[in-house]
Amino acid sequence: MTRTTRTETESEEESEFVEFRARAREFLAAHAIPKGHPDDFSQGYGAHTLEGERHYQERCAWWQGLLFEHGWACLTWPKEYGGQGLTSKHARIIAQEQGRYGVSNGAFSVGIGMFGPTMLMHGTEEQKRRYLLPLARGEEVWCQLFSEPGAGSDLAGLRTRADLDGDLYLVNGQKVWNSGAHLADWGILLARTDWDVPKHKGITYFVVDMHSPGIECRPIKQITGSAHFNETFLTDVHIPRENVLGAVNDGWRVANTTLSNERTLIGGSGGGGGGGMRDLLALVRERGLAGDPVVRQRVAKTYMRQEILRFLGLKMQATMRAGRAPAAEASIMKILIGDHLHETADLALALEGPAASLSSTDAPQGGAWQHQLLNQFSTKFGGGTEQIQRNVIGERVLGLPSDIRVDKDRPFREVAGLA
Ligand SMILES: Cc1cc2nc3c(=O)[nH]c(=O)nc-3n(C[C@H](O)[C@H](O)[C@H](O)COP(=O)(O)OP(=O)(O)OC[C@H]3O[C@@H](n4cnc5c(N)ncnc54)[C@H](O)[C@@H]3O)c2cc1C
Repeated sequence: MTRTTRTETESEEESEFVEFRARAREFLAAHAIPKGHPDDFSQGYGAHTLEGERHYQERCAWWQGLLFEHGWACLTWPKEYGGQGLTSKHARIIAQEQGRYGVSNGAFSVGIGMFGPTMLMHGTEEQKRRYLLPLARGEEVWCQLFSEPGAGSDLAGLRTRADLDGDLYLVNGQKVWNSGAHLADWGILLARTDWDVPKHKGITYFVVDMHSPGIECRPIKQITGSAHFNETFLTDVHIPRENVLGAVNDGWRVANTTLSNERTLIGGSGGGGGGGMRDLLALVRERGLAGDPVVRQRVAKTYMRQEILRFLGLKMQATMRAGRAPAAEASIMKILIGDHLHETADLALALEGPAASLSSTDAPQGGAWQHQLLNQFSTKFGGGTEQIQRNVIGERVLGLPSDIRVDKDRPFREVAGLA
């Protein structure tokens, strides 16, 4: 079973990457916190308080700052904006190696994983200089203000409005499911700026200071016990005109860069949190079940699923390197990751036996598997639901007819019943 914890081994890698991986390992061995250490960031899954979330964010900021200081932050970004001008393969190597430790920069995932690439593609030089460096240094936390109570899967149906008044936009509306908004410094916001054109054509993409008057975040409690996302109310919020990212009314195109990075991020992270193959094997051995034929079969299946996901990840990277958006690959991966998370957690909890009913630090492995079982729904819904991913696969891979979109070409004012 020694091959089971393999990621991408040196034998498969060109020498440039072997050397890079060795340097990454050296850096991490010198600075990162080992898994299972009392200071491991993931210790105590399920013990969530606002104070705990703040503490986690501070620790992520500490780790991101350290990555930046040693030249390991935002590797694919150009050097002038805090990166290293390296490839996505370099970024994947440090992510894989970091995954072996109890450290994370998870509080910056919206900022670095979604906003950063969008800013690099659509931002002005002035905007890039203002926002990217503090993000790479771990000084500013970002959140995403896209979804609304009536606009999730059908995001382009959003109704938050932004009306230009002199040099300021006046924003009113409600967003929902906004991860980390209550602790964020900045938000990426979609709002409607033209109601007389079809829904995709009247949206503008803004950068909003989350400390602005008129923004109220109300955390929503989840099944895991955490309240990491929010309802966000915007009442007469002022946003300076220069905070538009891309062109006015062209926000849907800009948002698509963010959304495709979001799917890739979820795909690349393997769903985030919870346990890995290494932890599962440790559990099998701890329980003395390594010789049990049924357990061995289920572990082998888990390994195969993980390997399929790894190969799909490589395919997705290759698609991106070829300059194409990996829409279908990202959708396939997202569905498989959802299945993998619940099936692996189900196996781990069966192995734990009665201890499966415990949680957080009382449970084996800090409650990672209990957390994974409950948190699987985040991956299944966040960044586009499974059904929407199946629609994408149906249309783009299988060539089936498009989903019915009766409102696509009508002015949004009519669709919203305001005409
Ligand atoms: C953990 C988590 C974090 C999130 N973080 C953020 C965030 O930070 N910022 C943000 O803006 N949003 C965030 N979201 C919101 C997320 O993007 C939405 O939940 C998602 O897009 C689905 O939208 P919805 O919840 O409104 O569901 P709906 O769109 O209302 O869907 C309800 C059900 O109907 C199905 N359905 C809808 N349309 C179709 C169709 N055409 N064909 C087939 N089935 C369909 C869906 O699959 C689903 O089962 C987060 C969500 C989660 C779970």
